[in-house]
Amino acid sequence: VQQNDPDITLITPSAPVATATHGGRAKCLQRLVRLDLPVPVTVALSFNAVHRIAAGEMPDTQALLEPFGGSLLCVRPSSEDPDWGGPGAVLNIGMNDATYVDLADLLGQEAAATLYLRFVQSYAVHVARLDPDMFDEITLTGQEGLSEALRLYEEEAEEAFPQDPGVQLAAVLRSMARAWEGTTARLLRQAKGAPADAGLGLVVQRMALGLGKGEGESGSGVIQLVSSQTGLEQITGRYLSQSQGRDALEGEAALFLERDPRGPSLQELAPDAFANLIEYTKLMRVRLRAEMQAEFTIENGKVWLLDGVRVQRSAQAAVRIAVRLAEDGIIPREEALMRIDPRALNELLHRQVDPDAKRDVLARGIAASPGAAHGAIVFSSAEAQAYDARGEACILVRRETSPEDIRGMNAAAAVLTERGGMTSHAAVIGRGLGLPCVVGASEMRFQTRKKTLTAPDGRVFREGEVITIDGTKGEVLAGEPALLAATQDDAFQTLMSWADEVRDIKVRANADTPADAKTARNFAAEGIGLCRTEHMFFEADRLTVMREMIFADRPEDRRAALDQLLPMQRADFTELFRIMQGKPVCIRLLDPPLHEFLPHDRAGHRELAEALDLPLSDVTRRVEALGEYNPMLGMRGVRLGVTVPEIYDMQARAIFEATIEASKDGDPVVPEIMIPLVSAKREVEIVKTRIDAVAAAVHTETGVAFSFRLGVMVETPRAALRAGEIAPHCAFLSFGTNDLTQMTYGLSRDDAGRFMSAYVQQGVYPEDPFHTLDADGVGELLQIGATRGRAAQPDLVLSICGEHGGSPESIAFCRAAGFDYVSCSPFRVPVARLAAAQLAA
Ligand code: PEP
Ligand code: MG
Repeated sequence: VQQNDPDITLITPSAPVATATHGGRAKCLQRLVRLDLPVPVTVALSFNAVHRIAAGEMPDTQALLEPFGGSLLCVRPSSEDPDWGGPGAVLNIGMNDATYVDLADLLGQEAAATLYLRFVQSYAVHVARLDPDMFDEITLTGQEGLSEALRLYEEEAEEAFPQDPGVQLAAVLRSMARAWEGTTARLLRQAKGAPADAGLGLVVQRMALGLGKGEGESGSGVIQLVSSQTGLEQITGRYLSQSQGRDALEGEAALFLERDPRGPSLQELAPDAFANLIEYTKLMRVRLRAEMQAEFTIENGKVWLLDGVRVQRSAQAAVRIAVRLAEDGIIPREEALMRIDPRALNELLHRQVDPDAKRDVLARGIAASPGAAHGAIVFSSAEAQAYDARGEACILVRRETSPEDIRGMNAAAAVLTERGGMTSHAAVIGRGLGLPCVVGASEMRFQTRKKTLTAPDGRVFREGEVITIDGTKGEVLAGEPALLAATQDDAFQTLMSWADEVRDIKVRANADTPADAKTARNFAAEGIGLCRTEHMFFEADRLTVMREMIFADRPEDRRAALDQLLPMQRADFTELFRIMQGKPVCIRLLDPPLHEFLPHDRAGHRELAEALDLPLSDVTRRVEALGEYNPMLGMRGVRLGVTVPEIYDMQARAIFEATIEASKDGDPVVPEIMIPLVSAKREVEIVKTRIDAVAAAVHTETGVAFSFRLGVMVETPRAALRAGEIAPHCAFLSFGTNDLTQMTYGLSRDDAGRFMSAYVQQGVYPEDPFHTLDADGVGELLQIGATRGRAAQPDLVLSICGEHGGSPESIAFCRAAGFDYVSCSPFRVPVARLAAAQLAA
């Protein structure tokens, strides 16, 4: 073909054809040709050729037609990535009055007329861009219908239907090239991740007819050797006799491929062709190193391959396919690891809305915690607990959640909030519990008093009505679409074990409760990197004691309350240590402002006054006195430890006593104690002195030796900058990137949701920095903290425990900065293990 045009290439084993210049289909066809598989004669037009055609520079079509020796042709798109789409294929180019006569001899007049008619229609609509409705009035079939179509074409196009195959081909090429450059197509593919200048290649191929009379079977279809759902071996696909193009995929009348009691199969109709197909597809798997779907046509008993694409796959199937390819020695294990998008594992870890289910989307919000659940709407935690007690699923709907809602969240199947962002309370707790969660769904009206939820389209949902939360997509759906269960099958376990073999950064979990710790251990977390102890005080009985402690005016009253809390905390820690079986457990001393533990409304104040036997006015006054204008920047974290040191003393004692207790009959425990929200070296000195004193006291009282490690959370920019003087006082630094992001940007983690989407849309921030670590700014602080800390204390253990800890980008950042481990919500541990493995593979 056109020897002088490097952009137009007859596909042969050695022709210069590449995915980056000719697209995936052209390259795949060349691979099939190299494997000696039956591929109809094909000519590939490069991206450049198509570009030139769109600009009006048509190649010599007569030369282009030469290799095909007068057969009918088809033109198919060949984009770099099949997901980017492309114009639909045009089949049967070359049909005209003369070929019609020849075909009528071969196929019979009726079939030939149908073929010609279909070509006229598709040419009219896709190439001449005539109104698709213009053929609606044709009721006749066969030759009469055809004549009618040709007449209508001439009337609308104001010229006769083109008879010259070269003219037809040129028009098809031009129309496909222009369609690709149109705005709609460009926007569509950009939404799928294609670059703005993505190219389109085209392949011109001899048409394998799929129609025929006599000698053997004719038809077309697709075949693959595994299930797209599970990845298990299973011959699937569709086939339709006497068909071409997408007929078999679109029609209802497809046959079964394999022998099947429910009806006739290709295997029975054409056993040889069927056996060939299986053999070809197996060969493609081995030699193309991927599970492939073959698109084929059978022409008088002979199989032709028209294309091969990687099989569509669920995450579960993707894992099994990759593992089987590695087990069969087709790809190395490292490559199997690379083939799975770590985030896709979420599909295996949580229930999902069945992709085939009908979705009635009521509203969108932030996808804060993956998974899906349905349940009755409830507007309070008390209601959620009532549903849970009756064994009924419910969705907790709140403007935002606060620590008081934890029990409600535990009782709910999913959570929906009006406000908040990726690190707001509901999001953090939701991810910790593995609870599907959509936050910041502010396009809905939350009338929590009236107990209604109104969708933007005006539909009103009342308490008790069932909705579905899709936390993976961040959508609220009406009704109960079918859900797919989470499945961590043997292939998943195998893949994870391979990941652990290559990974060189450790993965721990953020876990506050025994349930979290068990999940963490099941997902093979290498310890707990953050236990937020405040989450241990929201049980009803503890909350009262906690409140007594907060209300105590005199030291002896405070001591009495702390004495009651001590055994509870000791039991908490003992259980965590036992569950983690000697793996490190890092406990953070109490962090939130005290007033978070106090009731917020009048009824709550009255209840508390009764419980504490105090006048209501005293309670109200004290609550007001503890209130802060800016609690996030107020009396929290180590500031609490410095001003009310008895709390940290109690926690340290509980940790040490639990260490002794759990080490008695189990693996030895070396607890880690972490001080939150540090900004000055002196804070660390003060707390360290007291903790050392508690350790000495416990040692003297019990006579048992134990050790522990003290660390500091880097959550303020100042702590990062002054890491050099903080590090000598501690064994580890753990970067709390939630607060660090909040303070670096001066951006409230609880309020940013309101304008975050506007900021991201306008490109102010490339992404929500609470979701994706801001490598430039917050990252620079991490880098400074790590470098200065290590310079002062070379053995310093470095880690990240903010919500970013589970995201592949942050793991890459932390690994490059020499961190020892990342810590993330238990359900993100597998994602982190795989992401870490991909960095090392
Ligand atoms: C952090 O700030 O990153 C952190 C881990 O602590 P919390 O989210 O509890 O404030
Ligand atoms: Mg914090």
